Amino acid sequence: MPGRVVITGGAGFVGSHLVEYFLHAGAEVVCLDDFSSGSKRNLEFADHGRLSLRTTDVSEECDVEGPVDAVLHLASPASPADYLSRPLATMRVGSQGTWNTLELARRKGARLLLASTSEVYGDPQIHPQPESYWGCVNPIGPRSVYDESKRFSEALAMAYHQHHGVDVAIVRIFNTYGPRMRHGDGRAVPTFITQALAGTPITIAGDGSQTRSFCYVDDLVEGIAAMLRSPLVGPVNLGNPEEYRIDTLARRVKSLAGSSSPLRFIDLPVDDPRCRRPDIAKARRELGWSPAVGVTDGLRRTIEWFRRSPAG
Ligand code: NAD
Repeated sequence: MPGRVVITGGAGFVGSHLVEYFLHAGAEVVCLDDFSSGSKRNLEFADHGRLSLRTTDVSEECDVEGPVDAVLHLASPASPADYLSRPLATMRVGSQGTWNTLELARRKGARLLLASTSEVYGDPQIHPQPESYWGCVNPIGPRSVYDESKRFSEALAMAYHQHHGVDVAIVRIFNTYGPRMRHGDGRAVPTFITQALAGTPITIAGDGSQTRSFCYVDDLVEGIAAMLRSPLVGPVNLGNPEEYRIDTLARRVKSLAGSSSPLRFIDLPVDDPRCRRPDIAKARRELGWSPAVGVTDGLRRTIEWFRRSPAG
């Protein structure tokens, strides 16, 4: 396990779980975050001598004194609501921000893990998606600010690997959910839970027949840690291959929350993918990883957290 780990975006949803994981594993953790969507509340558990928390926009600078064994680059707006409202900041952190973190890894001789996304597959024409699929992204659609930034990040990581010998690890993360997601973050799980607990209408985009797969955050963290320990460059898909229709997910949340909220169908966003499901054969084979938490169990834990942590 690495001794000193830098996590960009460590005050966000996934990042904070990684901070927790590495602190428990005995590592020293440096968290770089501009708090644009993350929060100090996410790190309240970590009143910890081995955590250093710095307010930094990694698109501007990314420097850390002393030795670094691994850099985990998660900083980026991640929910559609966030990246659509901050398109240029999204493109900057995917380009210059990734550049700065790769430079840090090069200077320190550290392994760099890039948090890429299933969005690199766009609206896929192959289902489920293996890593060998190159994707189907509309390069000028509204979502492209995120999708193309991540595609550029992957290309840049490979260029640093090939030209500077930087030890890189690329993971393509599929929809992940769990405690510490923001109530208003706009992604399906926190939106449905917030609405179900408030008794307001549960809003389903389109007719709800589009599918997604949902990975519980603890499983993702185990996958990322396994990738970091491995010598793999990737990309490697990390996600839960169980596939759900969005309306099925909404009904499941409603019933687990014991809610009487009605379901309301709203317009489908532009370029919304019809389906998304990871092929995780590579992660199983090369990392010995597969998700352990089923959707019902994961949703129960997440609903419980949302009940205990009201918005604000
Ligand atoms: P999040 O919004 O909770 O976390 C992102 C974090 O990055 C926040 O703490 C934010 O303040 C920080 N940040 C944003 N821009 C920054 C900048 N310029 N400098 C420093 N910090 C900055 O989102 P998340 O769901 O935790 O996503 C984390 C990473 O995982 C992202 O890179 C995202 O693209 C990737 N990812 C997440 C999912 C998912 O389902 N959660 C799926 C695919 C990929």
